[in-house]
Amino acid sequence: MAKSFTLAIYPWVYSAKFDGTWREEFAKQRHLSAEAEAALPDEERERLYLERNRFEQLPLINFTTQYGLACFEGLKAFPQPDGSLSLFRPFDNGLRMARSMEGLIMPSFPADTFVRAVQQVVERNRTLGFTPAYDPAWEAADFVTADTVYIRPFSYAESGIGVDLSVSPWVIIINTTVGSYFSPDGDASTTTTRRVRATPGGTGWIKCSGNYVISALAKKEAEAAGCMEAIFLDSAEHRYLEEGSSCNLFAVLSDDTLVTPSLGDTILPGITRRSVMTLAEEQGMTVQERRLPVEEVLDDAVEFFGTGTAAGVAHFGSLTHEGRTATFGDGKIGPRALHFLRQLKGIQFGRLPDRHGWMAPGGGLTAGRRSSPGAAKR
Ligand SMILES: *Cc1c(COP(=O)(O)O)cnc(C)c1O
Repeated sequence: MAKSFTLAIYPWVYSAKFDGTWREEFAKQRHLSAEAEAALPDEERERLYLERNRFEQLPLINFTTQYGLACFEGLKAFPQPDGSLSLFRPFDNGLRMARSMEGLIMPSFPADTFVRAVQQVVERNRTLGFTPAYDPAWEAADFVTADTVYIRPFSYAESGIGVDLSVSPWVIIINTTVGSYFSPDGDASTTTTRRVRATPGGTGWIKCSGNYVISALAKKEAEAAGCMEAIFLDSAEHRYLEEGSSCNLFAVLSDDTLVTPSLGDTILPGITRRSVMTLAEEQGMTVQERRLPVEEVLDDAVEFFGTGTAAGVAHFGSLTHEGRTATFGDGKIGPRALHFLRQLKGIQFGRLPDRHGWMAPGGGLTAGRRSSPGAAKR
């Protein structure tokens, strides 16, 4: 598809509004066939995408647009060799969305409703012909060039202008195609930032929209300094690793121990993070969740990488902190990160056995393979 300046969301959009119970609705926005849309002159296609990104029922002035009171999720449906789509641990995203909403003191959306809604909206868009199909050519490059269906559920508050909480929010789910997030052949250099992403007692553990302003600022500054990614340190001592701009962090130390910052109220509990820890334990690695000083990474790490749904497993070639730069290995992806990346992508794209029950139906399945929404729960 041609490069677009407008978000190319798929026609089917899910919404649920809380008014004592969740009232669900599917809206089909204006569309042509996927092929006819691809063939449109750029300007016309942009106009169509823009039209699809408008929802009459959502108020303009509210606690979300004015004060960033919202939370969101990000998950993917992966094209499978048999033509179907599979979701990666969607129940975990549903649980996290429910916890995020509770953390923002709004009515929480049940995880099983979340999974069913995600499955149904993806299936409707698949039936319309908008979702990508499996391409065996992706296998040669470990799926780094693969397309997936990105699923973005988010909350949206009711009308209001004074600072307040939401008692009657919407949950909206949209889909769009995404390719790879980090360029695989970049130099993957990182730098610590003086900015603070999250503070104790704050909203860092919530996938809260307001958190991402500081992340975006730090990432832009890192890019201006010639780096790919900004690394946040703790707010009190500016000494311990916290997160990347929107990914969890891991270091492999010289004795092959895998270390990731322990969860607290400043770290987002990533589903990819937990999955990588499971894969590492399976490999017999020692896995530690603890405070990780930046000097330890500079002195002793042989690999350094970030994890997240968007980033996948993204290796970092170097880390700069207060004038000192350490390079990890030869700056290219190391053996441990490469193993995690291959395992995860292999499982997600249906090429490796799903031993942990992580995958769930995402659309286009025959009755025999359909399972209940809770099936992805561990
Ligand atoms: C979403 C997110 C992650 C990664 O979480 P996944 O569940 O692995 O996608 C990490 N850090 C932040 C700040 C995030 O928003």
